[in-house]
Amino acid sequence: MALFASLISLVTWVALGVGANSGLSPAFAIVGLFWLATIGLPTSLGVVLAASIWGRVEPLSGLPGFLIFAAALGAVFQCLTFIAVRGLATAAKAKGQAWKPNRVLTVLGTIGVLATVGLWMTRPTRMPLSTVVDGHAHLFGDQGWPPVHKETCGLSPAQKANHTYPILTRLLDLPAQGDLNEAYVRALVSQVQEARRAIGSFRVVLLAQDCRYTEEGDPDWENSSVYVPNNYLFRVVSRYPDWFIPCPSINPQRKDWEAELDYCLAQGARVLKIHPPTQGVNPANPRFRAFYRKCAQSGVCIMVHTGAEHSAPIASSSLGDPRLLELALEEGCTVIAAHSGTKAFFEPPGEDHFQQLTAMMGQYPNLYADTAVLGSLFRWRCIPTIVRTPTALPRMVHASDWPFPPNAMVFWHRLHPFTLVRLISEKNLFLRDILLKQALGMPPQTFIQAARLFDSNNRKAMLRNEKNSKTNAL
Ligand SMILES: [Zn+2]
Repeated sequence: MALFASLISLVTWVALGVGANSGLSPAFAIVGLFWLATIGLPTSLGVVLAASIWGRVEPLSGLPGFLIFAAALGAVFQCLTFIAVRGLATAAKAKGQAWKPNRVLTVLGTIGVLATVGLWMTRPTRMPLSTVVDGHAHLFGDQGWPPVHKETCGLSPAQKANHTYPILTRLLDLPAQGDLNEAYVRALVSQVQEARRAIGSFRVVLLAQDCRYTEEGDPDWENSSVYVPNNYLFRVVSRYPDWFIPCPSINPQRKDWEAELDYCLAQGARVLKIHPPTQGVNPANPRFRAFYRKCAQSGVCIMVHTGAEHSAPIASSSLGDPRLLELALEEGCTVIAAHSGTKAFFEPPGEDHFQQLTAMMGQYPNLYADTAVLGSLFRWRCIPTIVRTPTALPRMVHASDWPFPPNAMVFWHRLHPFTLVRLISEKNLFLRDILLKQALGMPPQTFIQAARLFDSNNRKAMLRNEKNSKTNAL
């Protein structure tokens, strides 16, 4: 009986955890949460205890190990609770005070009513946000592999074999085969449009993705996995200029980096992205000094992936170390460490670079970090850690990592139950991410940080253009 209750609880945990990615019906969420907080409570406590210790020391790490350990601990807790309750009932019967079902139900019913009234009275009021800029959302596409350099988008066979591919195609209702481009843009635009109905001035920084290059600077399709050329990004953004801020991607190893940077600047780019682990590039390579110098002089921010990467094949996880960004920072670039150097909760503690990143923030006033993907299933430690770090907060940029879904279920103990149900049932990924991070305590300025950074750069660029045009006129 106890094992059966534990099994139902574990299935409910998985159903709510997976379902919260796509948005569940509120009724299903309420029934599931009610079970986990009552009959399934011992199993829930076992799962939570396992989660709280996993990934903190080297031997207790890895996802399969966590799943086995959490399930076993939950079952043990459930069995022990059933044995204890049965012992108490037997003892009461021996004393001639056998539990009467009517009285038990009355006590439980009264607790239930009081708890519901208490929750209603303590329901949180949310400060509405009038402006939000999401600093990190992806544009993807696929027109066959290998793609045509600077022309077509592509996803390699290895990328399509990654566990995220079927999840995302299902989540966005994309076709499994054929030209993905328009279907993807349609899904993106419909979610932005919906978010703008709730937050009128909502905007999104949309990212391209450069490929890997050989030592000579030519495209290396054999080792690349995702490619979204910059001209495709600018074409999409030009269709919705008030909604999107373009973030092209330039791997500094490409031999035509300077021409591509000039092209992106001419298109109005104020930020560009480098993804060292997937692009197989070390951002600390001294030969990139000229690239960084030109970015700094042009007032272009550099967004660089930091921390762990699970969504694509990588060259090396060591390339996610934020200390590799010192060269760009010393050349005067404004750098945004995407994902704040963090890791999934189950990974070994050495994979987490958040403390190194915050130490660097003290040294470099031009270093920022974003919250992309930190509301998702495996990153539930990150936002609470950031909220507890006052030195990092003024440098944080709100970012979703759309379409990678935020998941409120893993923050269940930090959210009011009404907020939890609301977020588990929210289908719009942009809104869910904003509301979740707001509820977890991210301060209002983080939600406009991307606008502040990129608009100020824009002003700098405008001033420089003005100066240049005056010089030319003379
Ligand atoms: Zn991303």
